[in-house]
Amino acid sequence: MSNAKAFAASSPTSPLASTSIPRREPKERDVQIEILFCGVCHSDLHTVRDEWNAVMPTVYPCVPGHEIVGRVTAVGSSVSKFKVGDLAAVGCLVGSDGTCPECQAGFEQFCNGMTLTYNSPDVHSGGVTYGGYSDSIVVDEHFVLRVPSNLDLAGTAPLLCAGITTWSPLRHWGVTKGQKVGIVGLGGLGHMGVKFAHALGAHTVVFTTSESKVEDAKRLGADEVVISKNADEMAKHALSFDFILDCVSADHDINAYIHLLKRDGNMTLVGAPEKPLPLFSMGLLFKRRSVSGSLIGGIAETQEMLDFCGEHNITADVEVIAIQEINEAYERLLKSDVKYRFSIDMASLKG
Ligand code: NAP
Ligand code: ZN
Repeated sequence: MSNAKAFAASSPTSPLASTSIPRREPKERDVQIEILFCGVCHSDLHTVRDEWNAVMPTVYPCVPGHEIVGRVTAVGSSVSKFKVGDLAAVGCLVGSDGTCPECQAGFEQFCNGMTLTYNSPDVHSGGVTYGGYSDSIVVDEHFVLRVPSNLDLAGTAPLLCAGITTWSPLRHWGVTKGQKVGIVGLGGLGHMGVKFAHALGAHTVVFTTSESKVEDAKRLGADEVVISKNADEMAKHALSFDFILDCVSADHDINAYIHLLKRDGNMTLVGAPEKPLPLFSMGLLFKRRSVSGSLIGGIAETQEMLDFCGEHNITADVEVIAIQEINEAYERLLKSDVKYRFSIDMASLKG
C-alpha cells in the first residue's frame, strides 16, 4: 500500500476536505495512473450527500470522482495494453466478475459483481473504493481506456461518465439521421447528449429550464431549443419525437415529455433524482410509448465512444477548477450553473 492525496467528505453534511488514502501497489494486471483531470458528475454530489441511501448508502470517508484521465506511472507484469508514460482513462467501473453472461456480452455495468470506482466494496483492500478526486489510482487494465491523442485532456475526462452515459442509450435506441431527438436538461450529461445526437445526424431539440442556455444549446448542436416551463412551446412538439433522453438530476414532470413522443417512441431516463418520479400510465398506453433507463455503458462501448470522439474531435465544454474549489462547484451544480462540466486540474492537489 502507498498513500495518495485526495479530497473526501466525512459525512453527508461536511464539505470535502484534503485527506490521505491508501492505494494498492500494482498487481499483475494493474495499471497505476497519475490523475491529471477528473470531471465533476452530479452523481458525485448525490453520493457525497447520501441522497441514494435507499439503494446505495454512502460509506464515509467518501472520495468521489469517476471521470478520470491521467498518465500511466507503473504497470503489472501481465499488462499488455499500456506502458509507462501512456495516457489512460478510467470511468465509473473498476471491476466485474468477468465471467457472467453480462460481462461476456460486454455489459460489465450490469454484472451483479461489478465494482464502482467509488463507494463500492473494494475486493483488494476489503474496504471501500476511492475515486478520482485524488492524485493517483490503481485499476485492472480491463477497466482502463485508451485516450485519443488529439483530444484536450480536461475536456476528455467528462467523456468517461457524461459521455458514455449519453452515447450508450442513443446507440441502443438506434438514433440516426432523419429522426427527431430530444435532450432534457442541459448540464454535464445533457450537453454531451446534444453533441452526440447532432453528430449522429438527428434533428436535435434541447429542453431546458434555463433561458440563459438557449444560445449555448444551439452552439452545441441543437436545431431547436424549448423552454420547458412554457406549456405553449411544449405543445407545439406534441407527438413528434422518436426518442427523448432525460438527463435531469432533480424532481420534474416526466409526463410532459411522454406526450411529445410519437407512436412507439421511447423516453430513456439517465438522470437519477433522489425521489421517485410519478408516471401517468395513460401517456404510455396511448401510442404504445415506452419509458426506460440506462446505466453508463460497457467497457468496449466506452472505448468505441472515445474513438468516435477522437475521430470527430468531440470533448466536453469544461470549466477547469482547482480541487480547493470543489465545494463551491457543488453549490453551482445545484443551481444548474455549470458550462457545462467542471473538470478538476489535479495539479492543484499537489500544492
Ligand atoms: P448536472 O450537470 O447538474 O445537470 C442537470 C441538469 O438538469 C441541469 O443543468 C438542469 O438543466 C436540469 N435541472 C436541474 N434541476 C432541475 C429541475 N428541478 N427541473 C428541471 N430541470 C432541472 O447533472 P449531470 O452530472 O449531468 O447528471 C444528471 C443526472 O444524471 C444526475 O441525477 C446524475 O446522478 C445522473 N447520472 C446518471 C448516470 C447513469 O448511468 N444513468 C450517469 C451519470 C449521471 P437546464 O438548466 O437545462 O434545465
Ligand atoms: Zn457520473
